[in-house]
Amino acid sequence: MIPYGRQYLDEEDIREVSKVLRSNWLTTGPRVSDFEEAVADYVGVKYAVAVNSGTAALHCSMYALGIDDGDEVIVPPMTFAATANCIVYQKGVPVFADVDPNTLLIDPEGIEEKIGLRTKAIVAVDYAGHPCNYEKLKYIAKKNNMSLISDGCHALGAEYKKEKVGTLADMTVFSFHPVKHITTGEGGMIVTNDSEYRDRMRRFRNHGIKSDYVKRDAMGSWVYEIDELGFNYRITDIQCALGISQLKKLEGFLKRRREIAELYNVLLLDIPTIRPLEVKEEVSHAYHLYVIRAEFSSIGADKAHFFSALRGKGIGVNVHYIPVHFHPFYRRHFNTGPGLCPVAEKAYEQIITLPIYPGMSDTDVETVIKALKDTIKEFTK
Ligand SMILES: *Cc1c(COP(=O)(O)O)cnc(C)c1O
Repeated sequence: MIPYGRQYLDEEDIREVSKVLRSNWLTTGPRVSDFEEAVADYVGVKYAVAVNSGTAALHCSMYALGIDDGDEVIVPPMTFAATANCIVYQKGVPVFADVDPNTLLIDPEGIEEKIGLRTKAIVAVDYAGHPCNYEKLKYIAKKNNMSLISDGCHALGAEYKKEKVGTLADMTVFSFHPVKHITTGEGGMIVTNDSEYRDRMRRFRNHGIKSDYVKRDAMGSWVYEIDELGFNYRITDIQCALGISQLKKLEGFLKRRREIAELYNVLLLDIPTIRPLEVKEEVSHAYHLYVIRAEFSSIGADKAHFFSALRGKGIGVNVHYIPVHFHPFYRRHFNTGPGLCPVAEKAYEQIITLPIYPGMSDTDVETVIKALKDTIKEFTK
């Protein structure tokens, strides 16, 4: 089976993790701040806060903004549910704004009609690794006195108008799950230029403990204070050692992902019923996912059968994503459902994610294309 995504680890990664296992620090130690600094330097921001998942990172960002009971936050439906769940963790209300039909990124034109008195923020998702239209998003956020968060979990290393994802919003969130650009097993990070957000998130990841408590000695050195409720979202030194080592390989990973995408683009020209998503001139795409749209009516298959036929040929296709507002939880609690975001809903009928990962060979790409052609042939005859 050719999977849709896969981590790439080498002996160097294993050595770096082993060093930590032989040291005194397993959890929050020097590797955590080293990793934070390395990612902040890479994207070109002042601060980073590392946590134990991308989801935790999203939650931290909502906490840092002060999202509270009944506050509304605008999100696209074409994303992993965590993007919206993090709003609900803070008792906020996710408001779904539809996507652009060609890129499946949040459509800035549809945002303003969704803004109400309690709308506090937009969470933009750089779907598949294609940065959103940050120029327009920043303008809308500023004009309406809202914060802009980037869910950059697909887009580490991507650029919009020569600026890296991570520098384009008030806070940007990354994930280090094994299918993402670099991995720590599980892990996530928020990058920002705002020291207040950084401090709030540092406390939030550690039970709300003020680690900078200065009067410790006067009161007894066991004393610490919890002023606001936090969680245990700490990441370990073991994970961060892997992250530091992986980050050194990121440029190579991105280069290979872009080569694979280019090869797909060329080979798909032979298949008129399948086309890739649009890529805007002004971006450098990070290709976390390679998403195609298929005209199933011309192929003469329904999506489920087509999908199963590809899986049956050893191609680990996937679907990103079931629109978040379709999930029963959102229907039940937020009265969502079909019709709310028609563009995303129509796209969902058409999209399939093809395998893409740094260790994928050109031959693997050709195998995928052949499987697509064979499957289409089987259904058309
Ligand atoms: C992976 C992902 C997340 C969640 O990250 P985890 O590390 O799995 O918690 C959130 N948003 C998007 C868009 C993602 O792809």
